[in-house]
Amino acid sequence: MPAIHTQALVLRSVDFGESDRILHLLTPRTGRIAVMAKGARRSRRRFPGTLDFFNRLRVQLERRPRASLARLEHAALERVYDRLRTEPPRFALGCYLLELLDRLAPEGGAARDLRRLFDFALDALETLDRVAPDLRLRTLLELRALDAMGLRPELRACVRCAAPLDAAPAGFHVPDGGPLCAGCRRPGEPVLEVGLGTLRALERALALDLTRLDRLVLDRRALEEARLLVTRFQRFHIGLELRSERILDGIMGLPQGGPAPRPAGPRRAGPGVSAAD
Ligand SMILES: [Zn+2]
Repeated sequence: MPAIHTQALVLRSVDFGESDRILHLLTPRTGRIAVMAKGARRSRRRFPGTLDFFNRLRVQLERRPRASLARLEHAALERVYDRLRTEPPRFALGCYLLELLDRLAPEGGAARDLRRLFDFALDALETLDRVAPDLRLRTLLELRALDAMGLRPELRACVRCAAPLDAAPAGFHVPDGGPLCAGCRRPGEPVLEVGLGTLRALERALALDLTRLDRLVLDRRALEEARLLVTRFQRFHIGLELRSERILDGIMGLPQGGPAPRPAGPRRAGPGVSAAD
């Protein structure tokens, strides 16, 4: 099979044996791909200073029939996202986004989707290099990451009957991935109470150019609701807590294991979750 020449980001890196390294790369040609980098541990000459996180690379890969791993033949540095290495909040959020991509990015797919996903990853690193992240930017980048991997929550209409939402707050049903109108909401069904304003703000976050995402304003209540919605939606699709999530939560001043529960109101069945009457 001919060699693949493409751009790449390192998502994960594991030492293998005395001298080799196994990497998970994200590329716009293949999606996520596992590669063997022969001699990457022993010889600094073979891949000098390139195979690190937060580097944009140009690589040459060989995919051989029946081999489980592709081979990384060559890697050249195109761009270093410097500030992600030296500032803890940028580093922690960068690591978290790479881990999210490593969990959910597809191995192969339609060319246009793979290009879009790779462009998202580059734009996200570019944004983190330029802007010091806060909880708002983290939440919006997570939403955009899920969207780039084909996991876009419904935000405009009832996810079951497509009726427009008029009552506030809406009940967001995490397994169905969208809000429910009053007619579709079954008694006792757990939903997140989310204001229509929050849903509209998240819709704007999905439509904005990623480099302008940091300008989107969320008030305190919208941020709390968005945080809960994105965290629960992400957790539902991944099924576990990412390793880098606790570190990031700690750096951002969140209690470990997710956003703070809101004060329990009379209709709440649990932290941040309410049951319909
Ligand atoms: Zn409905």
